[in-house]
Amino acid sequence: MEKLVKKQKAYFKTDVTKSYEFRLEQLNKLKQMIVKNQSKIEKALNSDLNKSSFEAYTTEVGFVILSINEAIKKLSKWMKTKRARSGIVMMGSGSFIQPEPRGTILIIGPFNYPFQLVIEPLIGAIAAGNTAILKPSEFTPATSELLEKLISETFDEEYIKVVLGQSEITSELVKQKLDYIFFTGSTRVGQIIYEQAAKNLTPVTLELGGKSPTIIDETADLVLAARRIAFGKFSNAGQTCIAPDYIYVHESVKVPFIKELKTAIDSFYNDKSTFGRIVNERHFKRLEALIDKDKVVHGGKSVERELYIQPTILEGVEWKDKVMQEEIFGPILPILTYKNLDNVISELKEHEKPLALYIFTKNKANKDKVFKSLSFGGGAVNDTIMHVANSHLPFGGVGASGIGSYHGKTSFDTFSHFKSYVVKNTLFDFKLLYPPYSKKTEDTLKKFIK
Ligand code: NAD
Repeated sequence: MEKLVKKQKAYFKTDVTKSYEFRLEQLNKLKQMIVKNQSKIEKALNSDLNKSSFEAYTTEVGFVILSINEAIKKLSKWMKTKRARSGIVMMGSGSFIQPEPRGTILIIGPFNYPFQLVIEPLIGAIAAGNTAILKPSEFTPATSELLEKLISETFDEEYIKVVLGQSEITSELVKQKLDYIFFTGSTRVGQIIYEQAAKNLTPVTLELGGKSPTIIDETADLVLAARRIAFGKFSNAGQTCIAPDYIYVHESVKVPFIKELKTAIDSFYNDKSTFGRIVNERHFKRLEALIDKDKVVHGGKSVERELYIQPTILEGVEWKDKVMQEEIFGPILPILTYKNLDNVISELKEHEKPLALYIFTKNKANKDKVFKSLSFGGGAVNDTIMHVANSHLPFGGVGASGIGSYHGKTSFDTFSHFKSYVVKNTLFDFKLLYPPYSKKTEDTLKKFIK
């Protein structure tokens, strides 16, 4: 690990990675690598998580191709040194903000979107002129091994390198003197990474998880809500960081909403063979234990040897229930009811700030109240998960759901340091600044600054 980091740092010091032409060439190489191997990537994702080729394309392969296209198109604009105002104090000078690469970046990925969540930050790292070490998840061997093969065929290891291995390897990597760590994963591991990074004063982005609520008020379009929630919750078998974790529905519309939700689930996910699989046995057992049989109103069945859990709805759930004690990250959807939106807001304020929040409503005052009162990473009104697909929106959490953000220009910014400087004119010199200071000058200055 130490050798690899040293090698990348030495390469970075040559300044080769900094030019516009170099960055552009690497982005193009990355794109070609992905386009050429698209079907292999889709196959690997199918083998690890039973992703259909449609889902693999829209949420992983196609997703990052769009991001590369945007980076290629906007790179020269992003890289520009920008002029800043100088203000009266700096009169006669120029002020500038120049983005520069941070250096050697470590990108650590989770298992749920094992391709996208490593490549998407890599696009930002390349665009910003860095070298990168990638550590994909050990739980998705087909995708991670393919990534290692493709990256090593496309790039020299002094520039970009994939490291495979268990969490001990990640720990080893994090101990190195890196210039930036970009971590996507659980809040628990995020804390470990942050602690370790602090020892070297390495800056971090932590893209974490949590329990993301969805509120359905009495004015919501229930058919639409049911379809959009079923899609957001059960894609990838619920293993999506921004999936609705649970529902808070107004008690007056609970019955018709659950009826619509069952209809949506049955029409989307009737074919078991194309439904996502739980990543491993440990997570399968953890999820099974969250299903309270007495509260199941839809689904509830599972097949261990296939790592399959039916899309499951739990009704009459309360905060003290086991399913409400941790992020679910699987195809189980608990439903809680409410009478008064103010009580929901007060309750949610008692919990950690979530990565996402969704509200289904036609009442603007309700939407405004929720969005003004509650803090969360990002979200949507009358939809779920789709905010992730807009590269103009910075994507990230707040509080326990994360630190920092990325996507689009924000990725470039994340992997850049913004060097700020002043260019002083040489035609005149403010002697006022130099000692010895007279009382008269001091009084004039004090009159001036009020
Ligand atoms: P995880 O935290 O278990 O693992 C993520 C990575 O950390 C893996 O590469 C693993 O090798 C490494 N790791 C695990 N234990 C470690 C340790 N002790 N020391 C150092 N490294 C260690 O996460 P996961 O189970 O792969 O993914 C699920 C979690 O990720 C969920 O909480 C989900 O919400 C979150 N997530 C967040 C986002 C986001 O964008 N915010 C996206 C996807 C997933």
